[in-house]
Amino acid sequence: MSTFPPCPQCASQLTYEDGMGNYVCPECAHEWPVQAAEAAPEAARVYRDSAGNVLQDGDTVTVIKDLKLKGGGGVVKQGTKVKNIRLVDSDHDIDCKIDGFGAMSLKTEFVKKS
Ligand SMILES: [Zn+2]
Repeated sequence: MSTFPPCPQCASQLTYEDGMGNYVCPECAHEWPVQAAEAAPEAARVYRDSAGNVLQDGDTVTVIKDLKLKGGGGVVKQGTKVKNIRLVDSDHDIDCKIDGFGAMSLKTEFVKKS
């Protein structure tokens, strides 16, 4: 069973699909198209690099600008290759390991897919 989204008008959880492409709320009689609900921001997140390429787990990326590490940890130089990235849903998008630095978090806007 799939779950239906709450009513956008009254937030009721008792919504259902009428079989004709609409969701229906029995409490306030609001109807809205199924398609719009599926395009909501809750849809699977797509990660893109600085050039707009779609990134996936395991990709190799190149750092496009010098990144200073917090706490005087050094600088990850522009052009550094980062292998086997893992995409995460936090303020930094990429978990990875960089030779000489160890585990790191990066932002997708500062990398380009190799
Ligand atoms: Zn409603």
